[in-house]
Amino acid sequence: MRKTCDSIEAWVRPNIRRLKPYSSARNEFSGVASVWLDANESPFNTPYNRYPDPLQSALKQRLAGQRGVAPEQIFLGVGSDEAIDLLYRIFCQPGKHNAVSIAPTYGMYRVCAEINDVAYREVTLNADFSLPVEAILQAADADSRLLFLCSPNNPTGNAFPAADIERLINGFDGIVVVDEAYIDFSSQPSWLGRLCEFPNLVVLQTFSKAWGSAGVRLGMAFALPLIIGYFNKVKYPYNIGEPVQRYALAMLDRADEVRRWVADTLAVRSRFVEQLAALPSVRQVYPSDANFVLVRVDEAELLYDRLVAEGIVVRNRSTVTLCGNCLRITIGTADEMNVLLEAMRRYL
Ligand SMILES: *Cc1c(COP(=O)(O)O)cnc(C)c1O
Repeated sequence: MRKTCDSIEAWVRPNIRRLKPYSSARNEFSGVASVWLDANESPFNTPYNRYPDPLQSALKQRLAGQRGVAPEQIFLGVGSDEAIDLLYRIFCQPGKHNAVSIAPTYGMYRVCAEINDVAYREVTLNADFSLPVEAILQAADADSRLLFLCSPNNPTGNAFPAADIERLINGFDGIVVVDEAYIDFSSQPSWLGRLCEFPNLVVLQTFSKAWGSAGVRLGMAFALPLIIGYFNKVKYPYNIGEPVQRYALAMLDRADEVRRWVADTLAVRSRFVEQLAALPSVRQVYPSDANFVLVRVDEAELLYDRLVAEGIVVRNRSTVTLCGNCLRITIGTADEMNVLLEAMRRYL
């Protein structure tokens, strides 16, 4: 079914539609005033004494140019985790609406659903980790407001075919969130290029992975200006601090360096996957479009504990749906991967 701005308005919680957001008068006067006595700030300790730009205009301007979208299509949050939480708060009435997602996938979709008292419906991926498109559509009902898809998916590492995702965006009568935390490592293109085709699409990206900035806490949501307007209405007014905005602007100047980091990670990944696959008790290394690989071994618990004893921490995913005896291993430096491989050779 074709979605319009009207259908999106209709999915917004009535209290949020009515909400009059907190307003700081600051923006009206930027550029015209020079004496700021309106916000009870300290006159000392420039530049940290001032509240930051609540809409991060300079940063969004740069990002918009870089990603080929309009600034009005961007929300910046304290990690993509803030965007996930806000989606629930904007679109889901607690105790009434539900969200649909896949399993296994990123854990925060469920955590945020539970925090917001929103029912969370999981649909297990096919055994080859492909999308069960029809089952996902069947899991949805008239109270389904959000569908979370993570592509490339964490922890399975695969990116879903565009045709499957498109069928879900068209077939799901609510907001479809495509979490692209790992898109920079993927052979698949981003959905940002097609944002304007799909009013009900929200794309999430982050500075935490390829951009090497997990410690800074900066994530992005891209969507129709109407949806971004609701994000802005509901978020904390000064969610992104001034140092983070400056840092991110400087980081965007380093895009070439980031591309080299990504190329490096992909090269280390392909060498690591080859060597890992050659180990006798490795049963399967799943193809990865991300900066991690999921690997099925003979005895994941035992191996995990032995690695920890050596000071090597990977992610034990063996209790997760479809991931029995699986470890998720992040691609670090070539040296780090060699340390891990050495330890695995000693035990396997
Ligand atoms: C790591 C990761 C994120 C990043 O979250 P931030 O809050 O931006 O650090 C988002 N989604 C997925 C699927 C991830 O694996």
